[in-house]
Amino acid sequence: GLEDGGGGAVPVLRIERALAAISNARTMGKTYEWYRGADPQLRRQLSMMGDLRMAMEQGRLSLAYQAKMSIMSGRISDAEGLIRWRDADGNMVSPDEFIPLAEATGVIREVTNFALRSAAGDLASWAMQGLAIRVAVNISAHDLAAPDFAATVLGVLSEFGVPRSQLTLEVTESALIRSPAEAIATLKSLREAGIRLSVDDYGTGQSTLSYLKHLPVHELKIDKSFVTALATSDSDTIMVRSTIDLAHDLGLQVVAEGIEDRPTLDLLRQLGCDYAQGYLISKPLDSRDFFALATESRDSRHVA
Ligand code: C2E
Ligand code: MG
Ligand code: MG
Repeated sequence: GLEDGGGGAVPVLRIERALAAISNARTMGKTYEWYRGADPQLRRQLSMMGDLRMAMEQGRLSLAYQAKMSIMSGRISDAEGLIRWRDADGNMVSPDEFIPLAEATGVIREVTNFALRSAAGDLASWAMQGLAIRVAVNISAHDLAAPDFAATVLGVLSEFGVPRSQLTLEVTESALIRSPAEAIATLKSLREAGIRLSVDDYGTGQSTLSYLKHLPVHELKIDKSFVTALATSDSDTIMVRSTIDLAHDLGLQVVAEGIEDRPTLDLLRQLGCDYAQGYLISKPLDSRDFFALATESRDSRHVA
């Protein structure tokens, strides 16, 4: 139902529902052509998803790596894999633009598969060059809803010969809140298989730590919206301090993302935060540049 009365912009929620319906139609082998032209924005979004699929086939997608630093040792212990899409004209398309659409349409499952295989391939090649590091891949609620997701993840790791202990999966807090019992069971089985689990964008989803306590996760990533102005905002400092303390009480580790300056890192160290990620430490890099950074950090303290 796209007939929205009013003639104004179609609310985002409606578009998402329509896109979800389209996704269902596609799985059932029906055409969704009739939606085209219904709304210029929807038309643009649908053609973007077609372009994304083509970009995957044509090798115009890649996985960039952003360092996570252990605050205690000052060494790079992990990386987060972040998808990068260079379009046919050579321009970068922002993940913030296409990931939400890919999630709404289910195309995200192909993106996740690409990210997992890229990460496993790079981990295998780094291992041959003597670098063992953990890599985090972002996954969505759609992935967790697939009954074969855990088997797929473990299958990719064994195909590339990568130890399970080297993979982290990041799930956003908001996706976790929406997850049905089956999805939580999938996370449990991944954890039991040795995969590390992280709650991404923590603090944006209005969940409580007592809820998270029942989830099989190892780490919380405090959303960058609380971190960017941390050193100058009392309310952010209070939020971050209490999150770190409560998380530690629950046996969880804490990552802060979006660290852009030294005072923020120093404050996080004082507050007992375990891992740091942000432009201060490194921007996301292509796999070669990340490899160089990580090997250099292995034998010397990085920025701490
Ligand atoms: P995220 O998982 O929370 O990733 C962190 C984002 O913050 C990344 O943006 C990263 O480049 C950015 N960032 C890192 N350090 C800083 C900093 O110091 N300051 C600021 N202002 N930003 C910083 P990016 O790469 O544009 O990705 C945006 C979002 O897109 C990600 O947020 C994630 O939700 C999604 N995404 C990216 N790759 C994938 C993927 O492979 N699969 C899925 N499902 N989602 C992905
Ligand atoms: Mg993430
Ligand atoms: Mg995040």
